[in-house]
Amino acid sequence: MGTTVFERQRPAASVVRHSLAGTKRSVFWRDDLPESLTPDRPALTGTHRADLVVVGGGYTGLWTALLATERDPDAKVIVIEAQRVGWAASGRNGGFCESSLTHGHENGLARWPGEMPALERLGLENLDAIEASEARFGMDFQFERTGQLAPATEPHQVEWLQEWAAEGEEGVAYLDQAETQASVNSPTYLAAVWEKDTCGMVHPARLAAELARVCEERGVEIFERSRATGLETSGPGVVVSTEKGRVEASRAALGTNVFPSLLKRNRLMTVPVYDYVLMTEPLTDAQLASIGWQDRQGIGDLANQFHYYRISKDNRILFGGYDAVYFYGRRVRAEYENRPQTWETLASHFFTTFPQLEGLRFTHQWAGAIDTSTQFTAFFGTARDRRIAYAAGFTGLGVGSTRFAGEVMLDLLDGVQNERTSLEMVRKRPLPFPPEPAAAIGINATRWSLDRADHNRGRRNLLLKTLDALGLGFDS
Ligand SMILES: Cc1cc2nc3c(=O)[nH]c(=O)nc-3n(C[C@H](O)[C@H](O)[C@H](O)COP(=O)(O)OP(=O)(O)OC[C@H]3O[C@@H](n4cnc5c(N)ncnc54)[C@H](O)[C@@H]3O)c2cc1C
Repeated sequence: MGTTVFERQRPAASVVRHSLAGTKRSVFWRDDLPESLTPDRPALTGTHRADLVVVGGGYTGLWTALLATERDPDAKVIVIEAQRVGWAASGRNGGFCESSLTHGHENGLARWPGEMPALERLGLENLDAIEASEARFGMDFQFERTGQLAPATEPHQVEWLQEWAAEGEEGVAYLDQAETQASVNSPTYLAAVWEKDTCGMVHPARLAAELARVCEERGVEIFERSRATGLETSGPGVVVSTEKGRVEASRAALGTNVFPSLLKRNRLMTVPVYDYVLMTEPLTDAQLASIGWQDRQGIGDLANQFHYYRISKDNRILFGGYDAVYFYGRRVRAEYENRPQTWETLASHFFTTFPQLEGLRFTHQWAGAIDTSTQFTAFFGTARDRRIAYAAGFTGLGVGSTRFAGEVMLDLLDGVQNERTSLEMVRKRPLPFPPEPAAAIGINATRWSLDRADHNRGRRNLLLKTLDALGLGFDS
């Protein structure tokens, strides 16, 4: 078995230790929000009436609410959030806002080959609409249409890149080693593909906070610290109840993602897989000059256990990924967010990637639950005579596609037949995860196989292929 560059070229232990010595456990993006964007909203008390009640104050819920006001400016829309707006995945992600609605081209092609041209076009339109929404609604979530760089760090990955580039897709540029290192100066890079159009970078917490602000300007009422505990449809509409209040609405949209669904049928449809992130202090001009990165692309390397990294507006580097961890019992728990060994691994891989930045410190470390579904991209549906719609399971690629999901949920509630609702991807539900212990065995075996694939010239072993066939393999 070979070793990866991250094992062969480790930084000195003292470099890693120094970099993590003063790191605080806190989500940089949330800490970076101005007070004006984090108003303390009231909890739901008493009985309220609405045309649409949205459960969940992440991107899915907030886009749904905003788009509902666009479709009908007079609609009364209420959003109920269990904690704070944007506290979960939507406030703590990498900020890669990608056009893909299918968690990458390969995953889409494997599952919906006939629909891929439409899915890719709809995805680009969705990304364009997100970019345009800054001007349209007067929002600032620091959108930069930088595209994404996929560097090869192992020789066998160079062949993959050459095959990819040979397909001749528009906006895809192949960079050889010298060109790659001239763009972003890492000694680990052997070549890269730069997809120029299909990704923009955002400030994740600002996106959620700005969506909430604009929703409220348009008359949406948002309640925080209000967990929906019941969903009742015995009357003509839907009644959503919380500890201290209730909303009687004509229709409901559920944007609760990886959290336990209010619909029993969706309880086994997602599992949380924990992902860990580091954020550096701002780079000095000299440090920045030493890595180049003038085009500020989002970067995701090609390993199955991949790293993703990007540069913030104030020139910090966010570095995450690699160690996705599934905890037995599929629960969302704050204690799973503390994993010093993963942050040490990430810090080590960071300095392998950018040895010229030795001495740099990480100011923030955090983690979050990846909203994993068995098809690695969102599923959609309705319940109770189309009075309730849901979308969940974005599997770590929801920054862009949650807006599309909002459109889909509103289409489904309206009962409209259009290109979106005709898609097989929208109409067909994926397999659920099996209950424990089978879920843990399957998911952890998949992860083990991915690690081996990295070490084994990228060849997937038999178990992984079997899981792929069952719809459980991570093949994006
Ligand atoms: C560390 C990390 C990095 C990521 N990086 C990227 C990336 O770079 N690019 C990308 O595209 N995606 C990324 N993702 C995934 C992306 O963040 C998510 O797919 C996206 O934010 C999902 O949005 P959401 O609104 O569906 O879910 P969430 O943001 O999880 O929001 C769901 C909300 O519902 C609320 N809720 C749940 N149950 C109830 C209830 N019963 N009553 C009331 N409220 C309830 C929760 O409190 C929560 O606020 C990342 C995720 C993580 C964790």
